[in-house]
Amino acid sequence: MTRARWGGNLLERSKVTGEPLLATVQAHAVAAQESPETADLQTFAPPVTDADLVVGIVDRAGAQATGVGLAEAKVVISGGRGMDGPEAFAMLEELADILGGAVGCSRVVTSAGWRPHAEQVGQTGTKVAPELYLAFGISGATQHIAGCKSAKTLIAVNTDAQAPIMTHADYAVVDNLHTLLPVLIEKARAAKGA
Ligand SMILES: Cc1cc2nc3c(=O)[nH]c(=O)nc-3n(C[C@H](O)[C@H](O)[C@H](O)COP(=O)(O)OP(=O)(O)OC[C@H]3O[C@@H](n4cnc5c(N)ncnc54)[C@H](O)[C@@H]3O)c2cc1C
Repeated sequence: MTRARWGGNLLERSKVTGEPLLATVQAHAVAAQESPETADLQTFAPPVTDADLVVGIVDRAGAQATGVGLAEAKVVISGGRGMDGPEAFAMLEELADILGGAVGCSRVVTSAGWRPHAEQVGQTGTKVAPELYLAFGISGATQHIAGCKSAKTLIAVNTDAQAPIMTHADYAVVDNLHTLLPVLIEKARAAKGA
């Protein structure tokens, strides 16, 4: 099997022996296919009491306000430190609303408390594989790219033409996101007739 290491930056080919074999598949690595086999499903209900549980679920981070979950979204619109604070994310939400997408962000953003951790894209966040990934004010650290490199099309908007994300982008836009976003929203709204 091929195993993704270091956030997908290294692909290790390994041979696994032993019984039983247990493997996990990285999200979005392969498209789901209908199996000709049928499985014999068995219900297992272990006798667990409250006293046995040392770990409990305190919260579930589900779909966003737009109703589109980050991991499954066809369009993901992410913001980084260049957003300069939580306020500008209202523009990303507006654009996501028009395009039927979900809002994501970099770790700097979640660490600063501008957005919840559930929206973080990357090695220690959610790995996404949308048709379109829009990155505003994100430099493109390897840990962030690990979460968005499966996107079919990546558009990066950055004031710095030398930012690492520009080399990963299908379309690299050198511009100030704060002036570009209102124009993009207007154009997207007009194109959608919304
Ligand atoms: C173990 C580990 C795990 C990590 N996991 C993750 C992870 O899962 N996800 C993640 O994202 N990071 C992760 N990181 C952090 C990562 O290394 C980077 O620090 C982080 O991704 C940088 O976030 P950023 O791009 O928003 O900020 P910065 O690197 O500061 O980049 C900000 C960018 O915004 C641009 N900019 C500034 N103003 C404007 C403007 N007005 N218009 C347009 N562009 C502008 C700048 O030119 C710059 O390129 C991890 C780090 C470690 C060590």
